[in-house]
Amino acid sequence: MTYPGEVLHWIGGERPSLSGETYDKKHPHDGTTIARVARGRPEDSRLAVDTAVAAFEAWARTPVVTRGELIRRATMLLMERRDAAAAIVSTETGKSLKDAAGEVGAAIEMGFFVAGEGRRFYGRTSTSAVANRWAMTIRQPVGPAALIIAANTPIANVAWKVFPALLCGDTAVLKPSEDTPETAMFLCRLLYEAGLPEGVLSVLHGMGTEAGAPLVEDERVRLVSFTGSVPVGRWIQRTAGGRLAKVCLELGGKNPLVVCDDADLDLAAEAAVLSAFSNAGQRCSSGSRLLIFDGVYDDFRNRFLERTGSLRLGPDDEDDLGPVINERQMRSILGAVERATQEDGVTVAFGGTRLTDPAHARGYYVAPTVLENARADASISRDEVFGPVTCLYRVRDFDHAIKMANDTHFGLTAAIHTSSIHRAEVFRERIRSGVISINGPTYGSEPHMPFGGLKDSGNGFREAGTEALDVYSDWKTVYVKHDPDQI
Ligand code: NAD
Repeated sequence: MTYPGEVLHWIGGERPSLSGETYDKKHPHDGTTIARVARGRPEDSRLAVDTAVAAFEAWARTPVVTRGELIRRATMLLMERRDAAAAIVSTETGKSLKDAAGEVGAAIEMGFFVAGEGRRFYGRTSTSAVANRWAMTIRQPVGPAALIIAANTPIANVAWKVFPALLCGDTAVLKPSEDTPETAMFLCRLLYEAGLPEGVLSVLHGMGTEAGAPLVEDERVRLVSFTGSVPVGRWIQRTAGGRLAKVCLELGGKNPLVVCDDADLDLAAEAAVLSAFSNAGQRCSSGSRLLIFDGVYDDFRNRFLERTGSLRLGPDDEDDLGPVINERQMRSILGAVERATQEDGVTVAFGGTRLTDPAHARGYYVAPTVLENARADASISRDEVFGPVTCLYRVRDFDHAIKMANDTHFGLTAAIHTSSIHRAEVFRERIRSGVISINGPTYGSEPHMPFGGLKDSGNGFREAGTEALDVYSDWKTVYVKHDPDQI
């Protein structure tokens, strides 16, 4: 598969920006420019919303089973072309083909799950207090939607929003990350090849403030579903929420992984390495705070550092992690580490730098980084870094671990490693987080299960699972009175 030299918007078919402007897409592995991408501006955004508005009524009236069948056909096409999809994801993100293929697999599973929901679009029927009357609920589309996503797992991010939005009868304008434009186009083309009526989905490329913000501000957009950072999420909540549009926010995390003194330390170290460093730490659910019981701290630290030291960085299947997505992100990660060490007395147990050897120097490679001696109120303990950086903390006992785990603005995921079912159960009960994992890593969501977080990690909605239908549809309550002689 060759990556296209030019990536256009999809607004009623492929087209350049009205201004003709483009931006350069760089390869994270070596910094070379691989494509010129259409750079959307407010006038392109308006055109995309025009298209979504025009297509809405007919799509909303299409039976949901038909909409689900279309998603199934598109998913089958994705299965046939999974290698091509993985190659695009790998090229855009710098992650290995193996990891990219795993992500395509996750998008496929999401497609089949959502397609099946077309035949399970359940409401409920109920009785009435009035004779000769009964009541029911049915789902209805929300309206034209703006779907705005991050780059970290690009094809899964598209699948998680586009499939349920289309199933529910919404038309949509997808604004992918500026770093992963072609992944979004690939899935968009498959949907049209599977029979999607023109206009139901548009893909608008460009910068957040230039192409994304005008979608959020457009009064005709009735739903904004956003995956990204907290500051942008807050602005979207204020702006779209200000006109009472529906807003779904999936934001960041500062996720704790607790290692108790009765844990299997090898398993815990393995889970911690995957949580902290897989996908180069670019996961909202990455394990960025490792809370370790004092009694096993040194033992766990040795096992963890040994594994960290053996990680290989590069774009190939034998490598454990790739580069981060762009130069700005790399500089932001290195800046956070530098501030932690220079201003907050944090020490570096491993990594802390960019890779400068000839094989990596041109790419955006950050060494897996392990920090120690961070105060709980230091910025490195509180703010998301979104890179391969984690901190080790000593905790006195179980209560201290829970207190520290909950001492965060975020509440996305959390994990505990223990052989005590009692500790695991108390952790489950007391942790303030949307997802928890017992004796596993901090990430690993499945398409049939809800995902999302508390506090600054979101605004209460869940993506994936049947819960995703609550984002993309609204309820309608229907009363049926069947006695013609009764008012
Ligand atoms: P970001 O907020 O900078 O950008 C995300 C998307 O929003 C991009 O498409 C960007 O172009 C767009 N955008 C930026 N400013 C905008 C604006 N003013 N109006 C409209 N759109 C705008 O985030 P990022 O750095 O690309 O992604 C990393 C963040 O995403 C992290 O915080 C991570 O935790 C979060 N994330 C969350 C989840 C989840 O499910 N909770 C999943 C993946 C990533």
